[in-house]
Amino acid sequence: MQMLKEAIVRNGKAINQDVLLVDSFLNHQVDVALMEKVGEEFAEYFREKNFSCVVTIESSGIAPASFTALEMGLPLVIMKKQTSRIMTGDLIQTTVRSFTKGTSYELTVKKEFLTPGEKVLFIDDFLASGEAAFGMLHLAKSAGVEVAGMGIVIEKAFQAGHQRLVDAGIDVYSLARVKSMSENHIEFLD
Ligand code: 5GP
Repeated sequence: MQMLKEAIVRNGKAINQDVLLVDSFLNHQVDVALMEKVGEEFAEYFREKNFSCVVTIESSGIAPASFTALEMGLPLVIMKKQTSRIMTGDLIQTTVRSFTKGTSYELTVKKEFLTPGEKVLFIDDFLASGEAAFGMLHLAKSAGVEVAGMGIVIEKAFQAGHQRLVDAGIDVYSLARVKSMSENHIEFLD
């Protein structure tokens, strides 16, 4: 997606060869016009499949997933990284290792928001090693729902996530695939 690649080159900052900072347009300050296009692009690609719901992980996945859900006319479910005292009821949880923080968190969703048998589209901001995506897959399986597609805004193609998901039979669509990066250069796959 050309507009996204231009935003990455113009406003993204590779703080080293592994981590790309995109807080000026994706996950802190948000370029909503760009997110609207991101939503349209995912909706176009995944239109043929009959999804019943879009699922994401807080907080960085919320902006792209919201526009995707809006464009597709679907409800959105946000998986939580933290529980709270008011989060009661039947919960499904799995431990996920965070790539950026180097720590683990309990990915959590209320059972009532995922209906067994439904077909969901997972949207996230980044795909790196695939830990978050596999955590989500694990929760989906526990809830009895099928993950029939994954839309990723930025994929770091030099990490293992994409291949791991393809090997698991998932239809992964990434809007920008970063081949390599350094402080002053970002190269894309396509
Ligand atoms: P994975 O679980 O695939 O290793 O990493 C994906 C998650 O880690 C994403 O949800 C994203 O929030 C975060 N992440 C991974 N790599 C980066 C990165 O280079 N920059 C930012 N901002 N987040 C990242």
